[in-house]
Amino acid sequence: MSDAYPSPTLSGRKFFMNFPVTDTSHDLAAYRVRGGYQALEKVLRELQPADVIKEVSAAGLLGHGGAAFPAGRKWGVIRPDDGEPHYVCMNADEGEPGTFKDRWLLECVPHMSLEGLILASYAIGGRHAFIYIRGEFDLAWRRIQGAVDEAYAAGLLGKNILGTSYSLDVVVYRGAGSYVCGEASAMLASLEGKKGWPRNRPPRLTVKGLYQKPTVVNNVETLANVPVIMSLGAEDFRRTGTPKSPGTQMISISGHIVRPGVYEVEYGYSWERFLFEDCGGMLGGRELKCVIPGGVSTKILNRDEIRGVTLDHNSAVAAGSQLGSGGMIAVAEGTCMVRLARVIQRFYHHESCGQCTPCREGMGWMERVLDRIVRGEGRLDDIDRLYHISNANDGTTICSLGDSAGYACTAILDHYREEFEYYIKNGHSMMGGVLAIDDPFAGAVPTPLHATAGAR
Ligand code: SF4
Repeated sequence: MSDAYPSPTLSGRKFFMNFPVTDTSHDLAAYRVRGGYQALEKVLRELQPADVIKEVSAAGLLGHGGAAFPAGRKWGVIRPDDGEPHYVCMNADEGEPGTFKDRWLLECVPHMSLEGLILASYAIGGRHAFIYIRGEFDLAWRRIQGAVDEAYAAGLLGKNILGTSYSLDVVVYRGAGSYVCGEASAMLASLEGKKGWPRNRPPRLTVKGLYQKPTVVNNVETLANVPVIMSLGAEDFRRTGTPKSPGTQMISISGHIVRPGVYEVEYGYSWERFLFEDCGGMLGGRELKCVIPGGVSTKILNRDEIRGVTLDHNSAVAAGSQLGSGGMIAVAEGTCMVRLARVIQRFYHHESCGQCTPCREGMGWMERVLDRIVRGEGRLDDIDRLYHISNANDGTTICSLGDSAGYACTAILDHYREEFEYYIKNGHSMMGGVLAIDDPFAGAVPTPLHATAGAR
C-alpha cells in the first residue's frame, strides 16, 4: 500500500491508486513489476472464456460508466457459438462534466484497462477490439496508444498472444469532441464513421452493435477491474466494498473543495468523511450547500441528504440520486443555484444531437427561460414552465440526455425553489449574483491530486 494518495477505504485495500506516480510508472515494464499481465497469462493458459464470465459475474462487478449495470451479465448475453464476429469497445470518451477519473487511469495505468480489454475480448470470443477515446484527451491518448504499441511489441496483442492460440487486434480511435458520443450506440456509430447519433434500442448492442454484430461496450474503469478480479478471484474481490457494490469506485471531485482531484474510494465509505476529512472540507471554511454526486446528469443532494449516507450505489439511490460516473462536484453555501442551473442547461442544449424534438427544442427552451430569469426578466410561471418542459422530455427521447437534463434542472428547482422565486421577484440573485466563490478564497486551491509528472 502506497502513501501516495489519501485512503478513503475501510478494508485498507486499493486496486488502482496503490503506487507512486512517476515519469515511467505507466509503462509496460513498471506495470509488469506490479504484477501486470499475470492475470492474462493465467487466463489464456488455464481458463476457458466462459470461466472468465463466470468469475466476473460472481465478483458482482458493476459498470463504472454511470449506469452500474453488471458487467458479467452484459458479457453473458453474447453467444460464443453464433458464428458472428464479436467486438469489445472500451468507452474512454469521458465527457460528463465534473468527471475525470478515467483520465487518471488512462494516463497513469493504461495497461490495466488494456489488460481488461484483452480479457473481456477473450471472454466473449472477440478478435478485434476498439478503444474510443475522447478527442480532447492528449496525454491520455498518447499513454493508451503507447500501451497498445508496447503490448504489440511484447506479444501481448496480435497473433498468438503469449504463445497461445488466442489472437486479438486493438484499434485506438479518437473522438471529435461530442458529449453524446459517450453514449454507447452513438459511440459505435461514430466508430463506423457515421454521425455520432444514439439509436433506439432494442436491439441491444450485445445483439446488434458495431457493424450490426454483437458488441460489448465497457467503461475504462470497469475494464481495469477485470485483471484485479481474475488475479484475486471473485471471493477475495468481494471482501472489498459492500455486498451489493463490491470493490472500489474512482471518484473525481471538484468544486468548492480544499483538496480536489481523483480518489479511489471503497464502496461503503462514509460520504461525509470523504468530503470533510479526505478532501479537506469546503474552501474558506464555508458550509456545504449541496453536492452533485456523479456528473451533472445526477440529481443534486443537499447537506442533510448526505448525512450518514455511504458511498455505494444502493445508498446513493436511497438518498435520492446516483453515484453516476463518479464525477462529484461540491457546492458551497453562497452559490447561486439559479445560475448554476443555467450553466448546466446551456451545456445540455449545446450537446443535444438534435434528433429528438423534445430534447432539441426542450433544451433550448429551458436555457432561454433560465437566461431570462438570470437577466432579471423572469416570470413567476417560468418555474412551472421548466417543470413542464422537463416532463415533456421524460421517456420521449432516444437516449437519456433528454431525461437527465430535465432531472438535473428540476432537482435544483425541487431543492432551491425559493431562490428562483426570489430571483424572479427581485431581478437579482438571493446570493448576490455570484456563481463561484471568488477572491477571498482564490489561491486556496492546491495542485489537484490527479496531476501527473512527466507528460510525454
Ligand atoms: S435525447 Fe437528445 S442527445 Fe439523445 S438522441 Fe435525442 S436529441 Fe440526441
